[in-house]
Amino acid sequence: MENLLLGCIADDFTGATDLANNLVRSGMRVVQTIGVPVLPLDQQADAVVVALKSRTVAPDEAVAQSLAALGWLQGQGARQIYFKYCSTFDSTPRGNIGPVAEALMDALGTDFTLATPAFPDNQRTVFKGHLFVGDQLLSDSGMRDHPLTPMTDANLVRVLQAQCRRKVGLIDYRVVAQGEGAIRARIGQLREQGVQIAIVDALSNDDLLRLGPALAGMPLVTAGSGVAIGLPANFGLAPSAQASQLPPARGLRAVLSGSCSQATNRQVQSFIDARHPALAIDPLRIAAGQDVAGEALAWAAPRLAVGPVLVYSSASASAVKEVQHRLGIEEAGAMVERTLAAVARGLVERGVRQLVVAGGETSGACVQALGVTRMQIGPQIDPGVPWCHSLLTPGAAVADGDGLHLALKSGNFGSDDFFSKAFTVNA
Ligand code: ADP
Repeated sequence: MENLLLGCIADDFTGATDLANNLVRSGMRVVQTIGVPVLPLDQQADAVVVALKSRTVAPDEAVAQSLAALGWLQGQGARQIYFKYCSTFDSTPRGNIGPVAEALMDALGTDFTLATPAFPDNQRTVFKGHLFVGDQLLSDSGMRDHPLTPMTDANLVRVLQAQCRRKVGLIDYRVVAQGEGAIRARIGQLREQGVQIAIVDALSNDDLLRLGPALAGMPLVTAGSGVAIGLPANFGLAPSAQASQLPPARGLRAVLSGSCSQATNRQVQSFIDARHPALAIDPLRIAAGQDVAGEALAWAAPRLAVGPVLVYSSASASAVKEVQHRLGIEEAGAMVERTLAAVARGLVERGVRQLVVAGGETSGACVQALGVTRMQIGPQIDPGVPWCHSLLTPGAAVADGDGLHLALKSGNFGSDDFFSKAFTVNA
């Protein structure tokens, strides 16, 4: 493909959409692929985000997936590579942020990159190398208790150094405040000290916009999605309505929610409070062999014509713990994901063409069941969550000209009224 400016590798699915959203808002036309494509891209895009599922797999596997993505992006002529990870720097002492960043540096033959998860729009800021989630240090936030990637140290220089062979340093907020010249000078200084990866402070979008010009020409950027707002300008692109333009949204509307995050639980409640039809799915009934997906589809069918419906497994932390205790954590998760994915497919077969899915893993399962392999990224609903559009290709749930509008919401994103509001945003 011609003119691919930015090639992005994201370590999870909703994170990829979050990055794509920021690039679109800053003027790039963006396509997101699910996994590494086999064929060259046949549509125009300024950036492609390859969504991997590499955040919590073994480091070797994460590296292999990321290098495969890099190879494909280089084949499309990408001029700069962006490795995207979570804005809470989700990782373990083994990785995978450090090992993947270093493998990409090796493959690109570059001796310097930066690392910053800052995303001020979503209250992720970095100050003196320490990551804050809202007003709390990362290590005091809910991430402390994450089941897979507990983050117990907010000092990102220390966290990343534990994952890297290369020396990790810091570009602090005072340097960032002075802009491109000072940042480039600091990079030179760090290089002389043998530092090859720098954590960068950013307290506001202004900091990220000041950082952007200093990254022009850098072969590899590693970051959360925030840094993306400063990059399109390096390629002469400015925010425009065209960048987010999707085909008009038609067809029936539905919401599926398998996220049990606090924000999602509030969104489910708000949708119910607004008197929209909502059906709860009980994991224990799935485990008992009931056709829960079939029941949900039968329930939804007559209601869809009236307005959006919600099918959800979202539940309180205590209810989830109880189910996990009875069924096992992974088994419960997989069972619910399979059921919601079957509901997604059934809904699309019944004419749903505007579908909101809440939950990272849940989104991955639904998109897979629908046979979606790539999406064009459209307008933002809330920070980190845009509408996307996918043509339904042969082998997908249905094949028709309209395609499917999808909004894939990471658990903790979105305002309380997200599920209703999504359908009012012009997709
Ligand atoms: P988030 O983005 O909030 O982390 P995910 O979809 O990534 O949401 O993860 C939620 C996980 O919890 C999924 O594996 C889902 O299948 C599982 N799950 C959803 N509802 C329940 C429930 N009621 N009991 C147990 N597990 C559940």
